Amino acid sequence: MHMKVVIADDMQEKALELLKETRAEIVYKPPSLKDALEDADILIVRSATKVTADLISNSKKLKLVARGGVGLDNVDLEACKKKGIEVLNTPGASTNSVAELAIGLMFSCARNIARSTHGIKEGKWQKSLPGTELAGKTLGVIGCGKIGLAVAEKARHLGMHVIGYNPPPKPVSSVVELMDLDEVYKRADIISLHVPIHPTTEKMINAQSIAKMKDGVIIINTSRGQVIDEDSLYDGCKSGKVRAAALDVYWEEPYKGKLLELDNVCFTPHIGASTEEAQARIGGELATIVSSRMK
Ligand code: NAD
Repeated sequence: MHMKVVIADDMQEKALELLKETRAEIVYKPPSLKDALEDADILIVRSATKVTADLISNSKKLKLVARGGVGLDNVDLEACKKKGIEVLNTPGASTNSVAELAIGLMFSCARNIARSTHGIKEGKWQKSLPGTELAGKTLGVIGCGKIGLAVAEKARHLGMHVIGYNPPPKPVSSVVELMDLDEVYKRADIISLHVPIHPTTEKMINAQSIAKMKDGVIIINTSRGQVIDEDSLYDGCKSGKVRAAALDVYWEEPYKGKLLELDNVCFTPHIGASTEEAQARIGGELATIVSSRMK
């Protein structure tokens, strides 16, 4: 059965090879995506392409939009539903990579790694910057799903005490002590965010929630930018209430906002899933999805 698969966003070479092995006609990053979709059967996107009602308006055969990665916030689900287009993602492929990044960002904040790098490049030998160990500290995981639990597991191996908050249905886990959100804010030395975008999570980190946190808390966000009110985080980091923060995700990407002014905030450009391993797993899962449609 002939099948035209349009890939809209950058894809790692190995992942692309796996997709080509399905023997579907692969159209990679066409100059006009909308035109290419007219007779396409499957559209593959990552996070860059926004799948809007307009983008798919001319498509006559499109049966599936597959998002390589977690979250479907760049896909207009209602518009797809109206045209009878199924939407899938690869939910587990990047879990470990994001969890490792979150742990790396915790170390960077606790030991001033990114800050020292900048300092040395600017000729500053900041030997007296105060650091702190992770071992013995309390990590508060907000959102104890796949990534949150993977972070919790790794943190336990580092000698951290892990508490967490997740609304029902609560996960079953022996590594996280689950409790109310306010209790997590009150007790955590480090807070790591792993929630989806949702009306209940938008700006959940704001002036009020920061006020409930310990003085000198560290905040890590590898989930979605919308979870943090960036102005409140700025105020918290500037006053020292928040000792340090590390962000992989932002309201607007690429991020150009005022948090860049602060030395105690560390930034990565949405690279949670940017590892060879995660990309290969994403490619493998997408190839399996495409193959299953060729039968
Ligand atoms: P998941 O669905 O497995 O887990 C999310 C958890 O959050 C669930 O257990 C859910 O019950 C919980 N939750 C929902 N509302 C909540 C709330 N108000 N308060 C606390 N918890 C709440 O998802 P996941 O795979 O663990 O992904 C978590 C986040 O990481 C998502 O936002 C995803 O978009 C993001 N992510 C980022 C990157 C990156 O590159 N930085 C890559 C992959 C995923």
